[in-house]
Amino acid sequence: MASRHTLFPLLALAGACLLHGAPAPPDLREAAVRRITEAGLRSDAAYRNLGSLCDQVGHRLAGSPGYDKAVTWALALMKAEGFTNVRAEPVPVPRWVRNTERADMILPRPQALSMLGLGLSDPTPEGGLTADVVAVGSFDELKALPDAAVRGRIVLFDAPWTSYGATGAYRWGGAVAAARRGAVGVLIRSVAPSGLDTPHTGSMAYAEGVPRIPAAALSLEDASLLHRLYARGERVQVRLKMNCRTLPDAPSANIVGELPGTGPEIVLLGAHLDSWDVGQGAQDDGVGCMIVLEAVHLLHDLGLRPRRTLRVVLFTNEENGNRGGRSYAETHRAELPRHAAAVESDEGNGLIQGFSLELPGPEDPARLARAQAFLARLKLSLAPLGVTRMTGRGSGVDIGPTVHGGVPGLGSDHDGAHYFDIHHSRADTFDKVRPEDLAKNVTIMAIAAYLLADDPDRLADFLPPAEGETTP
Ligand SMILES: [Zn+2]
Repeated sequence: MASRHTLFPLLALAGACLLHGAPAPPDLREAAVRRITEAGLRSDAAYRNLGSLCDQVGHRLAGSPGYDKAVTWALALMKAEGFTNVRAEPVPVPRWVRNTERADMILPRPQALSMLGLGLSDPTPEGGLTADVVAVGSFDELKALPDAAVRGRIVLFDAPWTSYGATGAYRWGGAVAAARRGAVGVLIRSVAPSGLDTPHTGSMAYAEGVPRIPAAALSLEDASLLHRLYARGERVQVRLKMNCRTLPDAPSANIVGELPGTGPEIVLLGAHLDSWDVGQGAQDDGVGCMIVLEAVHLLHDLGLRPRRTLRVVLFTNEENGNRGGRSYAETHRAELPRHAAAVESDEGNGLIQGFSLELPGPEDPARLARAQAFLARLKLSLAPLGVTRMTGRGSGVDIGPTVHGGVPGLGSDHDGAHYFDIHHSRADTFDKVRPEDLAKNVTIMAIAAYLLADDPDRLADFLPPAEGETTP
């Protein structure tokens, strides 16, 4: 490690090495990490640009005019910031439009309910759907009911938050589970740990051969209210009126820009540019876009040119189809072997506390241990910024198909204490973003990107062995 008084000669040497395309030796990389830290923590570029995305572009569901506006915005920003090979790569996406919607409690007394239709839901019949509610706390409770108690009713899943995966199962699969029992509509308690009368949307799914019933989320407060009344033996009746539409696929695009490396390999840094059609998509995933984009911009401004190309990809359609992620892996299939790693940021703006690794292929503890030893070096450089976790709990939705195609994936692992309070809701707005946290997250991502792109070892060298190869 370079001591303070040797830093400047080292920096000059680092600059000279980088200019001539030679990889920086480890002590010069240390010096580069220090420069990135100093400049990154001072920069407000990510915060300013996120403000512009949130306030001037607004929410941006894939296939909507808002997303098209975000495409123009992102292309202009990348060009202005000195990215190379800036382009929009076309991706057709599903087109779902919310239109007007509302839910009202009719019995035992009239009250408007705080609701948001679930993304990709079918509409109610024209004029709305009025039915008695049967309230349950879980799939098992629904299973235990006789058919006669469910048929022709609206099922309310009032499942309390445990985790995004477990509670999200009601959003994703609630309509199918209820329709299989003869229900005519489904309501879910919003997938969130706490709320201030805020409904949260998100994708749902239908299944082949099961009636497609309309699906909506209620605020925690209103789901609890209906459930309490039902549990007291009251007759609870709701009118649901949803005018949403699924239209033919629409043209959309992933946005790509690069900081070229000195060699042929690539490190992908991704986030998703699309958001739900409410709020501003500030935390999900505007900040992720700014974290990866400004990380690379920072390296560019510092004149750092690592050996591998840093490719920023802002994906479309993560929220309701993942067509952007799948299209990238497909279109770039021939060059996936040149991808040394893919990194995604899609957990909001809580401070990055670690990275989560996802290796493609069959599980192999020996390879995983070696990859984690590689990541331990990364952790050493990031520990002063509070990055101490290296886990193996998956990488990211957008880079998933790329990981599946043989590229090791990393997801930035954030402090998630308040992320789901506003996730997919009208409250996911710019005012919730702390500028000092964003600057720190950009700095962490810039260091990680720099090291992944310049280390002589590649994360991709730790993949499970190919057929016939023996594990070292
Ligand atoms: Zn997201």
